[in-house]
Amino acid sequence: MQVVSAVPYQADSGSVAVQCGKLIDGVAAQAQDLATVIIRNGRVESVQPGAMSPNGMPVVDLKQYTCLPGLIDMHTHLTDSGHETSDLSVYYKRTKAEQGAIARESARSTLLAGFTGARDVGTYIAWVDRDLRDAINQGNAVGPRMQVAGYYLTIPAGGGDLVIPGHAESEIPPQVRMGVARGPEQFRQKAEQAVAGGADLLKVIASGAVLAFGGVPGEREMMPEEIKAVVDVAHAHGIKVAAHAHGAQSIKDAILAGADTIEHASLIDDEGIRLAQEHGTGLSMDVYNGDWIDTVGRAEKWPEEFLRKNVETTEAQRQGFTKAHAAGVDIVYGTDAAVYPHGLNARQFPIMVQRGMTPMEAIQSATSLAARHMGWDDRIGSLQPGRFGDLIAVKGDPLADITRLQDVAVVLKGGLAFKLPAE
Ligand SMILES: [Zn+2]
Repeated sequence: MQVVSAVPYQADSGSVAVQCGKLIDGVAAQAQDLATVIIRNGRVESVQPGAMSPNGMPVVDLKQYTCLPGLIDMHTHLTDSGHETSDLSVYYKRTKAEQGAIARESARSTLLAGFTGARDVGTYIAWVDRDLRDAINQGNAVGPRMQVAGYYLTIPAGGGDLVIPGHAESEIPPQVRMGVARGPEQFRQKAEQAVAGGADLLKVIASGAVLAFGGVPGEREMMPEEIKAVVDVAHAHGIKVAAHAHGAQSIKDAILAGADTIEHASLIDDEGIRLAQEHGTGLSMDVYNGDWIDTVGRAEKWPEEFLRKNVETTEAQRQGFTKAHAAGVDIVYGTDAAVYPHGLNARQFPIMVQRGMTPMEAIQSATSLAARHMGWDDRIGSLQPGRFGDLIAVKGDPLADITRLQDVAVVLKGGLAFKLPAE
């Protein structure tokens, strides 16, 4: 079987029989031994026991491997690269084309690490994420299936705005402030514009950010009626809303306003956990990247304010993760990459297991559960018939050693091979 190595290619056109030594299908509570996943014209046709070789179909022999559905990262910023966090003013001068080239590289690294699905929940330069998504879907770029927000919906000088101390507001180009609004009516308009422009997800910055100037991570930024205005637009168009919220109050505001998932949820309190459970709201808690920020951010001399706010949120968030999971709240895999380099997304799995998930729960958080909270469980997140033929494989057993997922040897997407073991 050929590995896709150049563009263009015909996306989702692959037909192949994949023989798996062990199979985790994304939904069953147990793995199965020796099974064949038959993918025809980009979609899973069937899963058969044993090692099958259907007539005329290429076979990939992964009898020494564990197969899983392609992984999903619910919280990425593929257009951004992590080491730029030390100077956000780069976004004032960069062109869309330059940002697009960075985005394509991030998308490739993310896919080859085994993440065949991703939510791009915000890009500073408007619509770079949409253009990337469309290029991938057309076979003109290599990357995961994406939902994109287009731009951040945020208050002036809020966590998604690029007002930076020492820079005049007149320096900021309009393309990085497309989603800045105040009051429900303005947010409604900006949300409608995002949908009209091609967003298939809306993203609100409900409370202050760790990696932004001014503001306190726990502090409310958007008011409940502003969040609700965005939710109403999204739901009228059949798409979902992800709310960035660290603070306990903003988490509750966002849940009650109808947001579908909460990102970070660092300072969630017991009432927030109860509400998330009651409303079926998913939490995407980026519980690994605090370690990266603390070590690399210090070494690279990121702004002292960012490092301090990271310390204030990391352990609290991990404790909230344990409590929320124990209470039965849906926690979906979300890493906030580009806080650390794209392609290292799987480093979060071990922290999730240390903090209370079984390995199977952690895997489902990045497969079927994530797909359900994207509204895409009829497309991805499991190896059931009808879903896209998005399949990865690792040596060894990730249920015994979750760190195996950091070394993905095989990536198929839509039945096409993007990575195979070296012969
Ligand atoms: Zn983020």
